[in-house]
Amino acid sequence: MTKPSDLGPPIKGKPHEPSDEDDHFYKCKICGQPVDMRDLRQVMWHEQPRHERLRPEVVTRS
Ligand SMILES: [Zn+2]
Repeated sequence: MTKPSDLGPPIKGKPHEPSDEDDHFYKCKICGQPVDMRDLRQVMWHEQPRHERLRPEVVTRS
């Protein structure tokens, strides 16, 4: 029977992250833009009765 130690050193797993980024977004009722709930700047901006869409920031993923 294969033991875990036969497979080599332990490989640390990542904690589960939701793969569905949409969980963090809601659609603004005013401008229709997806708002990232994790970013209060965006949330507060879209709370305003009148506002324009925000320019999407360039997200750098490393
Ligand atoms: Zn909005």
